[in-house]
Amino acid sequence: MGEYRLRCVSDGSVQPPYSLSCPRDSSLLRAEYKSRQLEIKELPGIWRFMDWLPVKGIIEEATCRPVTYRSRGLAKELGLENLYISFNGYWPEKGAGMPTCSFKDLEAPPTMQMLLERDDSSSLVVASAGNTARAFAHIASLTGQTLLLFVPEKALERMWTIVPPGRITLIAVKGDYLDAIQMAERVQSREGYTPEGGARNIARRDGMGTVMLDAAITLGRTPDHYFQAVGSGTGGISAWEASLRLRDDGRFRPELPLPRLHLAQNIPNAPIYYAWKGLEPEPYQEEMFDDVLFNRRPPLDMPGGVRDALKATGGMVYGITDREANRARDLFEQSEEIDILNAPAVAVAALQKSIEEKSISSEEIVLLNITGGGMLRLKEDHPRHMLQPDVAVSSWEDAIAFLEEG
Ligand SMILES: *Cc1c(COP(=O)(O)O)cnc(C)c1O
Repeated sequence: MGEYRLRCVSDGSVQPPYSLSCPRDSSLLRAEYKSRQLEIKELPGIWRFMDWLPVKGIIEEATCRPVTYRSRGLAKELGLENLYISFNGYWPEKGAGMPTCSFKDLEAPPTMQMLLERDDSSSLVVASAGNTARAFAHIASLTGQTLLLFVPEKALERMWTIVPPGRITLIAVKGDYLDAIQMAERVQSREGYTPEGGARNIARRDGMGTVMLDAAITLGRTPDHYFQAVGSGTGGISAWEASLRLRDDGRFRPELPLPRLHLAQNIPNAPIYYAWKGLEPEPYQEEMFDDVLFNRRPPLDMPGGVRDALKATGGMVYGITDREANRARDLFEQSEEIDILNAPAVAVAALQKSIEEKSISSEEIVLLNITGGGMLRLKEDHPRHMLQPDVAVSSWEDAIAFLEEG
């Protein structure tokens, strides 16, 4: 289970386990699993897809997975006959139990398990606008692994867990997400720390890829279209890679075209949208509908990156305004009867746009990734522990001085 070789997408060269980069160019690495066919295991959560996760063991307490269901309410509103929702949040009535309410709960468990198997006791370093840090904090609290988080001060309110917090150091960054990333980069190369890798981390990508796997298992085939709100676009790469594996598997209608990626960004902070459309980017706007959707340096142009994923699938990118997203969220919440985060509302708005523009037709099979939701629902069931920052810093020198004191 979970046996694989790591190859550079650009030239197919095999690289040592746990590499994050390729020697000759900026290519992403991809896992080539020994099991060509996906055998579903009798294991909890995403571990059932272990054949296509880069791990040998599991974290037993990490039991969540994507839930794919056929929409009635929203489908009717939109006039779609085959709308399927991948719900990645907390909604126990539907079997969705993501402990931090977003699909980052698919990325953190395989990443932390991989680190355990590496026998590496160094602290994982994660920079995050909030949702990623929260998901990693949850898993690290379960496993007892140490974790170092860099989170912009503005996102501190998003830092909580429903389990007692473990060995987590939380550094509040006086600045934005890019500042947090750049500080993390200075620290993670030091002894005792290890980088998480972002889009370069195959455990994150293949964890997110389980959205497509669960949908294919539910549908008996791959969907025609995949909708997701993106910041970095890593979820789009993951969906593409999962559909390549499913095609190779041979049992999910391999003669069909690959699911077309429909990626949605929130304008004006939408670098992937402007780059894909060949437009001049609009100036950055401080306030946005959901700042988890902004990444200044998305993995766009490297081999195996977002541009390749869009090209290979005939993909499209949408620029969604706050107003469109707001209305889409209301429509979703009223018709599906669950609260969602702001980010996935941007994907719902993109779906509406694609129908208006006739990019999809009413009988095609659509997979809508609701990347986070059920926060109100979770708050009813679980008391939360707020994570308190250990220090607030405005430079990497300050961060290192704090860690060295420690
Ligand atoms: C991170 C995140 C996204 C964007 O994910 P990508 O890394 O760009 O694929 C979308 N929605 C939510 C809720 C997120 O937390």
